[in-house]
This record gives sequence, C-alpha cells and structure tokens, in this order.
Amino acid sequence: MTLLMDSKAILLSLGIGYVFSLIMISAYWQDHIQASAVKIFFVSKCIQTAAWCLMILRGGIPSFLSVSVGNSAMLIGASLEVIALLTLLHELQPQTKRRYLVYTALGIIGFQLIILFDNQEKLRIAYCSVVIALLILPTCRIALGRNRSLLMRMMGSLYLLLFASTLIRGMIALLTDASTSYYKTGMYQLISLLALYLVSIMLNMGFVLLLKEQTNQELIRLASRDDLTGALNRRTFALQADQCLADHAKRGMPLSYLLFDIDWFKAINDTYGHDAGDHVLQDLASRIKRDLGRDDLFVRYGGDEFGLLLPGMDETASNEAAERIKKVLTGATIHGLPVTYSISIGVLTIVPDAGTQMESLYAFCDKALYTAKRNGRNGVFRGRFAEQGAISS
Ligand code: GH3
Ligand code: MG
Repeated sequence: MTLLMDSKAILLSLGIGYVFSLIMISAYWQDHIQASAVKIFFVSKCIQTAAWCLMILRGGIPSFLSVSVGNSAMLIGASLEVIALLTLLHELQPQTKRRYLVYTALGIIGFQLIILFDNQEKLRIAYCSVVIALLILPTCRIALGRNRSLLMRMMGSLYLLLFASTLIRGMIALLTDASTSYYKTGMYQLISLLALYLVSIMLNMGFVLLLKEQTNQELIRLASRDDLTGALNRRTFALQADQCLADHAKRGMPLSYLLFDIDWFKAINDTYGHDAGDHVLQDLASRIKRDLGRDDLFVRYGGDEFGLLLPGMDETASNEAAERIKKVLTGATIHGLPVTYSISIGVLTIVPDAGTQMESLYAFCDKALYTAKRNGRNGVFRGRFAEQGAISS
C-alpha cells in the first residue's frame, strides 16, 4: 500500500470539506441573520473555498489566477476568519479591526511585489506562510487568560498549532532546500495537507460550537438578571447566596448583607412619571455595580428593593460599604430632571453556620430596613441575626 496521494486529490478533498462547512454555516445563518460574526465567518469560508479551488486548478488556468489571486484570497479568508472569531468573543475593538485589515492589505501588496520582482516559489511560500502565521496570531490568546471555557482553550491551542506549523513551513522554505510545496507529491505534502484538512474541519466545527456556547451564555445571562437594572434576579441570587453562605460556614468567615429601598419612590413616579422612576432604578443599579467587588452579589427583589451580599466583610467593612453606597447616590441627577433620591439601608453581619438560610437573613435584615425607614429614612440601621430573637441596635 502506498501512502502517497495525488496532490490535487488532497486539495480537492480540502475544497470539498470547505464547501460542506459552507453549507452547514449557511443553514445556521438562515435562522440567525443578526449574528454578524456568522456573516463574516461565512464570507471568510466562501473566500477560502474559492482560494482552494483556484489552487486546485493550478496548471489548468492562468498562473495569475492560481498564484496571485489564489494566495491573496487565502490571506483575506484567513484574516476574515480571525475577525469573525474575535467578533464572536467580543474581543475586537473597531480600531483594532481597522488596523488588522490594513495589515492584511499590506500583506497582499507585499505578495504582489514578490511576484513582480522575484517570483520564486520558495520565496512565495515563505512570505505567505509568515503573513498567514502573523494574521492568525491574535486567535492564539483564546487559549490563555481567565474565564476561558475548555472549548475556547482547545480552539486557541489549535490556532497556536496552526500558527507554529505555518511559521515553521515558512522558515523551512526560506532557509533550506527542502520542498514545502503542496504540489510536489511526497511525505511532507501528505502530512501537511492532511493535518491542514483535519485542523480546518476541527476549527470550522469549533466555531459553530463556540457560537452555540456564546448563545447559551447569553441566554443564561438573560435568565439570571433583572431586565431593567441588570442586577441578579431573585432566583439566581438565592442560588448563589446559598452557595456563598455554605462556603463561609465551612471556612468560618464573616459576610454582610445589605437590604435597601428607595425613599418615597412612589412620589418620584407620581411627580415625574414612571419613566423617570425607571431611570432612577437604573441609575441606582449602575452606580452600585461600579463599586461591586468580584464576589459581591447584587439583587433586585422587585420594585425599589435591592439586596447586596458582601462575602468576607465584617461589621466595620460593611459599615463603610453602606456609607459608600449612600455617598455615591447623593446628588445623583436623572436625565436633566431635578430628581434626587436617597435610600434606607438595613445591614447585618454574621458568621454563618451550616444551617443558615438566606430567607432568615432576609427576614432579619428586612426588620432592620423597616427600622431605618421608621427612623426618618436616608439612613443605615444595623440589625442582629438571632434565629429566635428580635433585632436590637
Ligand atoms: P418608602 O420610603 O416607604 O419606601 O416609600 P415608597 O414610596 O418608596 O414606597 P414603596 O417602596 O412601597 O414604593 C414602591 C413603588 O415602586 C411602588 C411601585 O409603583 C413602584 N415600582 C415598582 N416597580 C417599578 C418599576 O419597575 N418602575 C417604576 N418606575 N416604579 C416601580
Ligand atoms: Mg421605597
């Protein structure tokens, strides 16, 4: 059995692989017109398919088409694929995107100059390989950093592999006499084209899976947050808070809980309208979110009532947190309206035990909030958490 395959057969199978991924992506695209990353990815695959077709036809069509247009299309296709991926992950600023497109254009111009002035195959291979490697370099960072899913790390690693192998191919072409052409039948050609084929299929599949993963994350985010303010909704807060209580019970660490409510909110609605009331709720939430620590949990219970669970905070730290919140809300103005607002806060600090429930923490803190209201509003009242007892100052 010979392992060597006709170069055109391998290139053709690559082309067919691309056509199939195009069909799958366009089927997905029909139902998700709004996804700009999918559109870009689709266009990139169209261009890459065209590039492979031009390369397959080499010898049968003018070399201007198979070499000049084919390789330029490959560079554009690779560049768009990177843009699609980074757009999908929300990691591409418009400015970076423009700069990246300029680099791609410069890469293509450089290639045309090589064809014009020193049209050797090994130089063309070396140049194209290095440019493609540099173009895909930004995707490698997907493998690194915090908050990356396993899928992201795998995709990033595949791009890293592609980056390294393309760069090595370029170096071999430039520095040695070994053949790195995809057209010369041999072991190098077989291994590199089959590897390229497998990696391309994995990356195409990976893109679609990433798309699904991102959509799922967005759905989870939407299902766990309050629409108006972006704070956690009750259900999600309850789950995360119970987890937090259990963790702190195990470690014997304190945590604090703040329950607060806007003062005379009905009057704001009645005087300035419901829209202005909504703006007040959004303003309050955005000011508080700016001040949140990484593990703090911020919930909107409904209406103008919010809660804040502050892991690790003892009495002193939570007193400071309550004062800081009151301060950031002081003097807030809402869209040019002369609306100012204040809040009343109930605060509790506990070292939970295994049986501590979020509901009882809420019940005790609600009493503290009620006292803060009764004391004249715009103030903080510290409650005491005692399963059987009442609160005292
Ligand atoms: P207090 O100082 O005792 O808290 O007085 P209050 O007027 O703020 O009374 P309360 O907290 O009971 O008022 C809540 C009001 O919030 C009642 C309801 O009309 C209003 N509200 C509830 N949800 C929304 C909302 O999504 N948007 C707006 N604009 N108002 C809401
Ligand atoms: Mg209120």
